[in-house]
Amino acid sequence: MIRDRGDWVISRQRVWGVPLPIFYAENGEPVITPETIDHAAKLIGEFGSNVWFEREAKDLLPEGFTHPGSPNGEFTKEMDIMDVWFDSGSSHEAVLRAREDLTFPADMYLEGSDQYRGWFNSSITTSVAINGVAPYKTVLSQGFVLDGEGRKMSKSLGNTVLPEKVVKNMGADIIRLWVSSVDYESDVRISDDILKQVSETYRKIRNTMRFLIGNTEDFQPKEHAVAYEELRSVDQYLMARLDQVVETCVTAYKEYEFSTIYQTIMNFCTVDLSAFYLDFAKDVVYIEKEDNLERRAMQTVFYEVLVKLAKLLTPIIPHTTEEIWSFLKEEEQYAQLAELPESSIREDQAGILGQWGKFMDIRDAALKALEVARNEKTIGKSFEAHLSLFVDEETKALFASLDANLEQLFIVSQLDINELTAAPAEAMQFDNLAILVEHAHGETCERCRAIKEEVGTIEDAATLCGRCADIVKSEYPEALVPEEA
Ligand SMILES: [Zn+2]
Repeated sequence: MIRDRGDWVISRQRVWGVPLPIFYAENGEPVITPETIDHAAKLIGEFGSNVWFEREAKDLLPEGFTHPGSPNGEFTKEMDIMDVWFDSGSSHEAVLRAREDLTFPADMYLEGSDQYRGWFNSSITTSVAINGVAPYKTVLSQGFVLDGEGRKMSKSLGNTVLPEKVVKNMGADIIRLWVSSVDYESDVRISDDILKQVSETYRKIRNTMRFLIGNTEDFQPKEHAVAYEELRSVDQYLMARLDQVVETCVTAYKEYEFSTIYQTIMNFCTVDLSAFYLDFAKDVVYIEKEDNLERRAMQTVFYEVLVKLAKLLTPIIPHTTEEIWSFLKEEEQYAQLAELPESSIREDQAGILGQWGKFMDIRDAALKALEVARNEKTIGKSFEAHLSLFVDEETKALFASLDANLEQLFIVSQLDINELTAAPAEAMQFDNLAILVEHAHGETCERCRAIKEEVGTIEDAATLCGRCADIVKSEYPEALVPEEA
């Protein structure tokens, strides 16, 4: 667009604007000298550009100014004005260079995509002419806002979406989140339906954060945080995923790719947290005793997620993150004042991500088998299941290296691991994997809701499983009702 633009006629025939500081002598000869221009510039600097229209030509010229074309000392002034693109296109000279708190060149010129022909263009043209360089380090442009069907908004169509109305009805953070969700470099669409989808994402993020806040209430990071090396493998996996999220989002901010941040955080909240980590977390944070290491380990991850996501989301939904921040135990008083988080890529991270990636494939298969069993009414909730996994040596080694509580991760009451070759015909077949779902044997533990064979057999705790009986006996002995003799 620079190469193809023609000559630029910078004069316009309008009654008012920024004047062209040109005078004419009696013989019609234009008078345009450094001396006359400097003088006009000084007057305009002092009185504003209207001075040109308020004063006679002779009062705009230096005192005692003479010219061979004006033997009687008479002059007239130019009444054409400058093209407005020349005004705005020279703001790098009049604003950036003139103000001490600004720098030349600017970090960024930000405008609508129509400005490649307008301001971006006139600015680079004038700056290259004067300075030999562009007046900006980078240019960012955005498209225009269209309605849900991709039509231009107009009052007669009645399809306008007023930002202030959205703010009033749904809150400012919803419209901000919408802005982050779209590919702004092209034209973007907005409608009540689109905003409804965005508010659903908002609710997902908000509920996730609320769960994390609620479950770190008794957690003091300085006192209770568990060192990374002491975390269980599954907690380290979540930390590694969080680091990936931080890395992706911080890079995306640098590249102004806000929709990447929206997608990444939504995906993390939905897939990693809600559908996995927080799904089985209740079996730890609600059930284990307060200072249990596994519980503190999970809370360490929860708290880390809270702090880092709050920081990452602050540029997008600042009202919400400030509210979240008020529940955190950080020294920085406001999320707004906190720096963006840094990812702490650890040496073993790739290994952990790889191992758990394989585990997730097996988990997907197990979820499928559980779903089928639910449809066939073998079980109701997955907690009613006894899961038999038939695996090869590689998977056996994987399970051993993960050192994880598989019943907990699959959210089933009972689980056993067997040789792949021992799989019965009725087991569901996958690649190098077979899964059999049966109803678990035993009674339901009143406290953790798992079905265990030992429920009903434990002295003084007839309604509890072994794990819960131990916890209750040591932590809440007053809750136990001795059996009648
Ligand atoms: Zn129990």
